[in-house]
Amino acid sequence: MELRQKIFDFLKDPIYQPEHYLSIADFRALTRERFARFAAAHFFTITDYVDNPRRFLAALECLAWADYSLAILSGVHYTLCGGTITKLGSAAQVAAHVPAMDVGRLRGCFGMTELGHGSDVAGIRTRASYDAATREFVLTTPDDDASKYWIGGAAGTAHICAVFAQLEVAGREEGVHVFLVPLRDEAGRPHPGVRTADCGAKMGLNGVDNGQIWLDDVRVPREAMLSRLATVSPEGRYSSALPDRGARFGATVGGLTMGRVLIAGAAVTASAIGLTVAINYAHARPQFGDTLIGDYLTHQRRLYPALAATYALHFALDRVKALLAAPPTPARAKAIHVASSGLKAAASWARIRCLQDCRECCGGQGFAAANRIGPLLNDMNVDATFEGDNTVLMQQGAAAELALGGVLTRAGAESLRGLVNDLCRRLGEDRGAAARTLCAGFGCPDHLMWAPIARDWTTAFKYPGKA
Ligand SMILES: Cc1cc2nc3c(=O)[nH]c(=O)nc-3n(C[C@H](O)[C@H](O)[C@H](O)COP(=O)(O)OP(=O)(O)OC[C@H]3O[C@@H](n4cnc5c(N)ncnc54)[C@H](O)[C@@H]3O)c2cc1C
Repeated sequence: MELRQKIFDFLKDPIYQPEHYLSIADFRALTRERFARFAAAHFFTITDYVDNPRRFLAALECLAWADYSLAILSGVHYTLCGGTITKLGSAAQVAAHVPAMDVGRLRGCFGMTELGHGSDVAGIRTRASYDAATREFVLTTPDDDASKYWIGGAAGTAHICAVFAQLEVAGREEGVHVFLVPLRDEAGRPHPGVRTADCGAKMGLNGVDNGQIWLDDVRVPREAMLSRLATVSPEGRYSSALPDRGARFGATVGGLTMGRVLIAGAAVTASAIGLTVAINYAHARPQFGDTLIGDYLTHQRRLYPALAATYALHFALDRVKALLAAPPTPARAKAIHVASSGLKAAASWARIRCLQDCRECCGGQGFAAANRIGPLLNDMNVDATFEGDNTVLMQQGAAAELALGGVLTRAGAESLRGLVNDLCRRLGEDRGAAARTLCAGFGCPDHLMWAPIARDWTTAFKYPGKA
């Protein structure tokens, strides 16, 4: 509470007041300056990501109240890049980067997505080959399809990028690993072999410079591979604490969890802002005589369920934060992954509907940028897509939830998506037959024949206890 209050007081500085008349270039410059001042104030340290996740989340959640471009630029730097270093890096790698990142002297970005591979992270094609003769990794973008795309901060802000690439050591493919690659120096001059381009104007979030990155045989030292989970010896021998490839991949991309919790938290914040504006307006605005618009049943139907959902999501999120703060165990890590993925999708979808209703409930006034609902609708629309597309997350969450409950074998869980697609195809022909096919595949008729699930497979995530 004390930390939040300090940050809210800090954000009263006029530089954090909304600006609606800026060009994209000026908005980016302002966002970078806002970020620089916030970082210099050093309210928390990136290692809180692991040591004190509640503090880490509390500090970053405050930024969404001020401006979402600032929240996202900071989220990419602290959570995605800094958090990945803290979680996957050795103590030496953390010590080498975190102090400068904490105060914004070194700015980071997060290079997972490629033009050709977004949701399918395991399919990325950026290569990192180990050269034992020079004890370096050589990072290569084989073609445009494998260029890193949409990378927040890559067009001009970031100095380094946490690049996800397929590791190859002595001719053997070892799967996706993370490498710290310099993009540009302090003066903004590109690192040799690095090319970047600007992703251009967006529907919202224009304070963030999203960029495309090509790596033309960029050489980085052996120490650039984050090495808490896996290492390559100077002679070129690969070893990992997690020999199972699936487990290793899960741990490598696991850094997205905290970002998903932040997105869900921002959705709750934005819904709270929109509802505060709309409900206050509803109780001040008469229409058709003295009747306040808030007294019309349709108005209540539009706003109050969203208010209840926002409270429910707030408390659900608090449960996930408590799990994050508890001592880590493998079972807890799985539960956090499933809950954060599902809540990110549920909260961001709920927020889109909620803000649209708030906008309409304020009539024409809802369209004025000054009331914040419209800008939030635009800036946050991408929440349904980044850090895991919502539909894909719901599918993964449902599969994992069924597997966690012991309903599915591992092989069954992996084929869930195929079965769901099969069901969707068949639904048009014969609903009952499709449900029976699915049940035969799962061997859990109680769960899947239960009426709400048989009607709509997407509800499977909401009713895990029914299995
Ligand atoms: C503004 C912005 C900022 C971003 N910042 C970053 C960043 O900093 N770093 C980074 O690495 N990435 C970033 N991203 C990328 C983002 O994470 C990806 O856009 C996201 O993962 C989705 O990938 P995609 O765009 O390739 O969509 P796709 O994966 O091609 O998905 C397109 C559609 O297909 C559907 N779909 C895909 N697969 C399936 C399936 N198996 N079953 C059913 N439906 C499916 C999806 O639901 C979606 O509707 C950013 C994106 C944006 C727009």
